[in-house]
This record gives sequence, C-alpha cells and structure tokens, in this order.
Amino acid sequence: MIVTSQSANALSCTSGSWKIWSLSDGHVDMPADLLRRGPGLGKYTLAQEPSLVRLSVNCFLLEGAGNNGVLIDCGAGGQWEPSLGHLDGAMAEAGIDPSSIGVVALTHTHLDHLNGLITRDGRVAFANLSRIVIAHDAVAGFVDQPHLERFRHLLAPVRDGDRLGGHLAALAIPGHAPGHMAYVLDSGEDRVLFCGDLIHVPAAQFARPELTWGYDLDQSISRATRINLLREASQTQAWLAGAHMAKPGIGRVVEEGSGYALRSIA
Ligand SMILES: [Zn+2]
Repeated sequence: MIVTSQSANALSCTSGSWKIWSLSDGHVDMPADLLRRGPGLGKYTLAQEPSLVRLSVNCFLLEGAGNNGVLIDCGAGGQWEPSLGHLDGAMAEAGIDPSSIGVVALTHTHLDHLNGLITRDGRVAFANLSRIVIAHDAVAGFVDQPHLERFRHLLAPVRDGDRLGGHLAALAIPGHAPGHMAYVLDSGEDRVLFCGDLIHVPAAQFARPELTWGYDLDQSISRATRINLLREASQTQAWLAGAHMAKPGIGRVVEEGSGYALRSIA
C-alpha cells in the first residue's frame, strides 16, 4: 500500500486497483479510566496518568474494482461533541463528492459511527446512497433510532463471511457492540482489515491487547477478539484500519515485546 496524498484531515493510498481514503470525522476526549485491566479486574492506570485520552474518529472510503464509493462508518454527524461530525469537511478537503458514495458499511451502531448519515446542519449526507451494509445482529440497534427512520429501507444485513462484492467481505469481530463487524479488503496486493472499535486506546492496547474498554459490551469476548485479530494481522502482515486509532488510523501490526506495536502508514 502506497500513500498518494495527505492533508490535515484526509489521506489516500493505493493498493492494487483500489484507492483507500482515511477521512477524519474529528476526535473525542474520553475518561482514561474507561480502560480496564480485563474482565472483572478493575481499572487500568496509564503510566502517565492523563485523566483524558483523545480518540481519533476515522472513516474509510474504498474506491475501485466495481465497488465505487464504499464508505466504512460515517462519523457522528451533529449528534455528539462539536469536535466530531466533520467528515463532510474532510471530504471537501480531499475533493470527494458525497454524492459519489453508493454504499455505507457500518461496523456497529454507536453514535460516532452512523449518525453521519445526517450532516451537522440536518441534511442527508449522501444523496445517492443505495445500501447500508450492517450486521444482522446490529439491525435492531439501527431501527431503535427514530431520527434514522428515513434510512431503514436501505439496510442490507450481512453475516460473518458474506461478500460485499468481489474483493470485500464481512468478518465478525464480536464483543464491543451487538453485531460488531469488520470489513476485509483483498486488493490482490494487500489484505486490509477495517476493524471498527477493536482498539480504543492505541497507546495502551497494542502493547497490552488484554486491556478492555469500559464501553465494550462483553469484556471477555472483546478481549479474545482483539488478541486473536492482532495475532493474525501480525502473522499475515495484514493492514489494520481502525476507527479510533490515531489519525490516519492505518498501519501494520508488528510483534514487540510481549505484545504488539502499530507501524503507521504515515
Ligand atoms: Zn466508536
């Protein structure tokens, strides 16, 4: 994968005939004590003890090979902190027309991943959206949100292993939220795992993947999922693209000490 452009809130790279964008929706500061030492083990204290950790919020756009305009997660729209909901600005910065987005693939239904279907000023963000890919087990979480009712007819539920076209497949990564789903691109040159909320605090959870996050729905399962996926990604030299990994949120996982480290693409 080769970086082809980079600006403050957007990075593009190519892999085979694919173009991959990282687009920043902004960031959010969360209490550091949401980090846990593991299921039932209490809070984990970061070495520097900051009271807040800053989480990037990244969205990823895939263009190419008959799958034009697949956007993986779409940020918070106007529904959360003012520091979030800036995907439209990142797209403008990158010269991407929002009406070119045909498919949104959601990793899960938390606010910071799906409310960007509506812009901060209340407009439908993607005028030509034809499909919202979502895990079967996440559909209820979408339908529960009345302000998103106008999008329900677009829902296209998938299960683990389903293909979204020639080179993209759904991969269940359970634990963080109902139906938490990764999307895997096999470009022919690289394998890229768009892994949603597998990692919340990269500064801690690559080195110690057993650490969990207070908002993980099932702490034990999310821990096992993270340990297994980081091992697999490091062994297969896959790329990882994470919603909350430091901007641009794309890198390779390498073994380091008793855990891992991320080698960012930029
Ligand atoms: Zn999230």
